[in-house]
Amino acid sequence: MSQSHRPIRQAAVIGSGVMGAAIAGHLANAGIRVTLLDIAPDRLTAEEEKAGLTLDRPEVRRRLAAAAIARFKSSKPAPLYDPSFASRLTPGCLADDAHKLREAEWIVEAVTERPDVKKAVLDLVEQHRAPGSIVSTNTSGLSVAALAEGRSEDFRKHFLAAHFFNPPRYMKLVELVTSPDTDDAALSRLSEVCERQLGKGVVVAKDTPNFIANRIGTYGMLVTLEEMARFGLTVEEVDALTGPSLGRPKTATFRMLDLVGLDTLLHVVDNVRERSDDPEDASVFARPAILERLVSEGRLGEKSGQGFYRKR
Ligand code: NAD
Repeated sequence: MSQSHRPIRQAAVIGSGVMGAAIAGHLANAGIRVTLLDIAPDRLTAEEEKAGLTLDRPEVRRRLAAAAIARFKSSKPAPLYDPSFASRLTPGCLADDAHKLREAEWIVEAVTERPDVKKAVLDLVEQHRAPGSIVSTNTSGLSVAALAEGRSEDFRKHFLAAHFFNPPRYMKLVELVTSPDTDDAALSRLSEVCERQLGKGVVVAKDTPNFIANRIGTYGMLVTLEEMARFGLTVEEVDALTGPSLGRPKTATFRMLDLVGLDTLLHVVDNVRERSDDPEDASVFARPAILERLVSEGRLGEKSGQGFYRKR
């Protein structure tokens, strides 16, 4: 064990969507206490209305993160090994509970893949975090240096990307990506935490658009969509051709896209085009029309109950 290794005991995860909830669950399962934070909802559910609740009630304002924890607990197959994990997860609303960031040794940002949203959240993190705490972004490929730009020296020294893969319980890889200002000690601590506490394999990637795995993975998905249109194939045919018949899981293409989230994939391709100065990227990472159509119809994948497939 290197001298820098100090296990994390208390963390905060911001964003309780597809990745944030699952990362929070994985951390809690590894014995870490986690505060999971999201935005306050802007409308009541039918049940909340029936119960006479209003939008300013704490249980409503914390509902997104609380619902994510509840979903995660009841998902099949059971996503956790340690039944006591739930006691280590606390739901919150970032606007009300930002002061809790001060308790966290590690803050994981896992909000929507849009630079403006991430920057606003990191502004709040910078205001409330304890000096010396590690801040990581789960971005799929935004510039780590740009997200760190203009922030305090202590923040920049402790900020990096820790890019988990979906689903975080099963996917072994975490890409760690530093900015020129990230301290070696912060990189080495997070690397050991990922390997020893979370059981992951770590790769240190350069701060290039989409890093390593997503650069290849997103490219592969876009080419598959293009070829599908060219040859007039159906979703089922493509999944059959690219799945078990090639020795790959049945989530090979479209079930994987539904799991990832079609809106997230659009953000990712937009970001690559905007970050890259390679003219070829402008055409390779163009928005596929079929994704634009499904997202405009509210078909975001498993998170909305319907994407390429309906929820099983
Ligand atoms: P998602 O759309 O499922 O969830 C995003 C969450 O962020 C939502 O719950 C939303 O309410 C919350 N949020 C938005 N603005 C916020 C704010 N200001 N304060 C607090 N919470 C806020 O997205 P996701 O798929 O979980 O992606 C999260 C991050 O992880 C993105 O950077 C994405 O690129 C990355 N990522 C996604 C995948 C994947 O397969 N989906 C894999 C690896 C990395």
